[in-house]
Amino acid sequence: MKFSIKLVLSTMIVLALALGFSGFYFVNYVFETSLDREVGQALDESSILSFAFETAALNVPLKYSVLPDTVVEEIASKLEMGGQGGGRLLRIADEEKNILYTSSGFAADEGLFPQTDQHTKSYRVIRVQGGYYVHTCVSIDALNRILYLETMKDVTEVFTERSLGFSLYRKVTVVMLLTGMVIMLFIASLLTKPIRLLTKATRKMAAGDYTYRARQISRDELGQLTGDFNRMANALEDTILQLEEEIEAREEFMGAFAHELKTPLTAIIGYADMLRSHKLDEEKSILSANYIYTEGKRLEAMAFRLLDIIVAGQEEADLQETPVGGLFAYLQEMFAEKKEADIRFAYEEAVVLMEANLIKTVLVNLIDNACKASETGGVIEVTGKTIDDGYRIAVRDYGIGIPEAELSKIVKAFYMVDKSRARSKNGAGLGLALCAEILKIHHSELLIESKEGEGSCFSFVLSTYEKIPSTENTTDEK
Ligand code: ADP
Repeated sequence: MKFSIKLVLSTMIVLALALGFSGFYFVNYVFETSLDREVGQALDESSILSFAFETAALNVPLKYSVLPDTVVEEIASKLEMGGQGGGRLLRIADEEKNILYTSSGFAADEGLFPQTDQHTKSYRVIRVQGGYYVHTCVSIDALNRILYLETMKDVTEVFTERSLGFSLYRKVTVVMLLTGMVIMLFIASLLTKPIRLLTKATRKMAAGDYTYRARQISRDELGQLTGDFNRMANALEDTILQLEEEIEAREEFMGAFAHELKTPLTAIIGYADMLRSHKLDEEKSILSANYIYTEGKRLEAMAFRLLDIIVAGQEEADLQETPVGGLFAYLQEMFAEKKEADIRFAYEEAVVLMEANLIKTVLVNLIDNACKASETGGVIEVTGKTIDDGYRIAVRDYGIGIPEAELSKIVKAFYMVDKSRARSKNGAGLGLALCAEILKIHHSELLIESKEGEGSCFSFVLSTYEKIPSTENTTDEK
């Protein structure tokens, strides 16, 4: 069952109960008040009759010392005639509760006699022949006799009014419930609109439309729920986009990997086939074996690089407070023998948070790339400087540079701007991918500025532990 229908039904049940109880209470209250009034009047009337009887008894001739039954009947008949509308219903009984006089139509039984004595009045409401009456009983003290006067007052109208009241109230209740239902259906439809919009959005998303958002039409709890749902949908869409990008990158990686494997393997298989199927002279045999060896070595290097990238991507860096002096000293020593480039180191002392071995790998790769991109004897500057955000290390060369369109791609695994040039220099397009992974676990990133034909600058920023007073060291390595 729909939520809005449940809402309407529950409201209707509450409304019906409230109207039913209040109607019953109201009609019954009016009825009881009217009945009380009628009972009061009946009792007053019977007191007046009793007084009138006693007064009439005073006129009895003196010869009687006790009121005779015939006089009782005479007075009773006069009192009966004096009623409104032509007649009263009354009955007179003597001391022994033997009936002396009864009006015609007086149909009550003698049920009140046991409750009535000389000092008490009694009454009850009875139903006789389809009508309702107030039946009263009072005593009369007249001429040395105690008599009992009973009256019957017709109160059927009070009961009829009660029935009419109930019937009218039932009709009013039905009309009010029907009107209430129409109004409630309208209200429930308005109240549940945010739920319908949310359901629609959920279905759209389940069907794969992750861009669909639910319209927020209120500021209440349902409006907040819609807002939260949309925020969740945004997060979900971002995650899905990220996953799609990752899948795409992985596919690209696999494609490039297969391609990179194919080239050295084709060469290795070709030369190995030549060696086994032809009798080659010694020079050609050495040449072939040499090809197989160098391509095999390239494959081995590539496998190690790949492993490094995978490991770096999964590792947490063990960040240590490390003075940069040791790092630069290591690089200076390592590239001291490299005669093809003029590598200049300039750095400020500082203590940075890094895993030194990993950062060494990054810098060795960047300096290697800079050497490959430079002409023989080209200047390469390796600098380290404390800046506001931390410690910036940069490797600048004045070599071939990188076309702007390639800048965003060169960090991808296996990507090489000029494949034949890169391969001729033993490149496989994995160095920068490894650098990016290492810097990622240092919470940093590789920044690349380059202009084709003018050179490139690769830099990154590491967090500093503390600043050491600046003493600039400059060393040239040839
Ligand atoms: P590899 O050097 O093994 O080819 P890298 O991932 O280190 O792989 O570099 C990817 C590509 O980026 C290189 O093939 C080269 O085309 C380009 N590249 C990297 N560094 C430089 C540089 N300093 N100057 C010009 N091109 C560069």
